[in-house]
Amino acid sequence: MEAQDGGRLRHAAQAGGRVLISGASFAGLATAYWMKTLGYDVTVVEIAAGLRKGGTPVDIRGETIGVVRRMGLLDAIRRKALPPRRTEFKNADDITQARIPARPAVLDSPDEEYEIDRDDLLDIMFGAVCADVDILFGTSVLRLQETSDGVSAWFSDGARQDFTLVFGCDGTRSSTRRLVFGNDEDVMHFMGLYSFLKVVDRRLIESNVTQIFSVPGKTVMLNGYDDKTDIAFGFRSDREIPYEHRDIEQQKQLIRDQFEGLGWRIPDLLKEVDAAEDFYFDKLCQIRMPAWSRGRVALVGDAGYCPSPAAGMGGSMAIIGAAALADALERHGDDHVAAFRDYDEGLRPFVEKVQEDAMSFGLTMFAPETEAAIADRDRRLAEMSAER
Ligand SMILES: Cc1cc2nc3c(=O)[nH]c(=O)nc-3n(C[C@H](O)[C@H](O)[C@H](O)COP(=O)(O)OP(=O)(O)OC[C@H]3O[C@@H](n4cnc5c(N)ncnc54)[C@H](O)[C@@H]3O)c2cc1C
Repeated sequence: MEAQDGGRLRHAAQAGGRVLISGASFAGLATAYWMKTLGYDVTVVEIAAGLRKGGTPVDIRGETIGVVRRMGLLDAIRRKALPPRRTEFKNADDITQARIPARPAVLDSPDEEYEIDRDDLLDIMFGAVCADVDILFGTSVLRLQETSDGVSAWFSDGARQDFTLVFGCDGTRSSTRRLVFGNDEDVMHFMGLYSFLKVVDRRLIESNVTQIFSVPGKTVMLNGYDDKTDIAFGFRSDREIPYEHRDIEQQKQLIRDQFEGLGWRIPDLLKEVDAAEDFYFDKLCQIRMPAWSRGRVALVGDAGYCPSPAAGMGGSMAIIGAAALADALERHGDDHVAAFRDYDEGLRPFVEKVQEDAMSFGLTMFAPETEAAIADRDRRLAEMSAER
């Protein structure tokens, strides 16, 4: 078991005060961990009745490895990590056109990286904080008002409480962001792609394999791990498509309209779409804001700088962002204005790089727009995997 970040504990007495965190996913739980470590009294409100489980596995690599080590979570993540996975790019006849081999993690090396089931990572992070912080499920913040020395929060259960600082960790459609920054349509940047995701508790392909089939502007991906398969459909669209968010039949029809008549395993996979009772369907978007804080409220993770699933970094950015915020608060003590400025200036270059890479590389890799771009992707990936 690696050491916890004891260095920070010596500052516990220094911080004091109460913080409120909205959202109990990666950003919220990581922020809760650091604020508790800094000595704050922490309350987390989560709108769902429990942790919001589901979704595809999360990558932990690069700087995130160092952060989860500081949090004392690296060993638990190593124990739960999924076996390394190979990726195969298929053509309509199921012939593999390019392949990225599975890469076993090399412990304590700069290349150490893991993939972990989203639910397992949530459980690990929840376990790290649940004894020390108040987590109120089924609760949300309806109103925030800054006072001379803090922020008053009105909760959905009618209670009002006062806090020193408030952190919005409530995802891409953050209500904290709306409450504090107002109308936020202009911070959501549509990336020209829609995605559908369904995780089925069956093996549709071999375990520890990802298969991708693309035609211009459309991609289907299967991830096999444990006894589950992620089924993902993605399609490009120049404009936003109006649809009713609660109408799941309409969303299924959008997928059918795009993919009917295509080859590979798509006819069978469309039957899975037909049978799906719950699934994820949304436009891909990034959150880009000129500032991540206002007054005593700061945003962490997708709420402030969602990079989109095309980055493969949403979980990492939330975990890295929470640590960057804590480091800034530690450096500046009671001066939250300086701390929030430091957090913003220090993290922004990294966030912008990840967001740019998602636009220029991630999107092109996932859903190339032309036959030539598909061939180019397969060639580049074959070269990259040969270099490793
Ligand atoms: C159920 C689920 C499945 C996901 N699946 C995938 C996936 O397959 N692939 C992928 O790339 N990304 C997925 N994501 C997004 C991914 O988790 C994030 O990109 C990333 O982990 C950043 O984490 P975050 O904590 O900033 O945001 P999120 O993980 O989105 O968490 C936000 C949290 O805030 C809570 N919340 C929302 N509104 C309020 C409110 N008003 N009051 C209190 N709490 C609120 C939510 O319930 C959620 O727990 C998923 C997110 C969720 C919630």
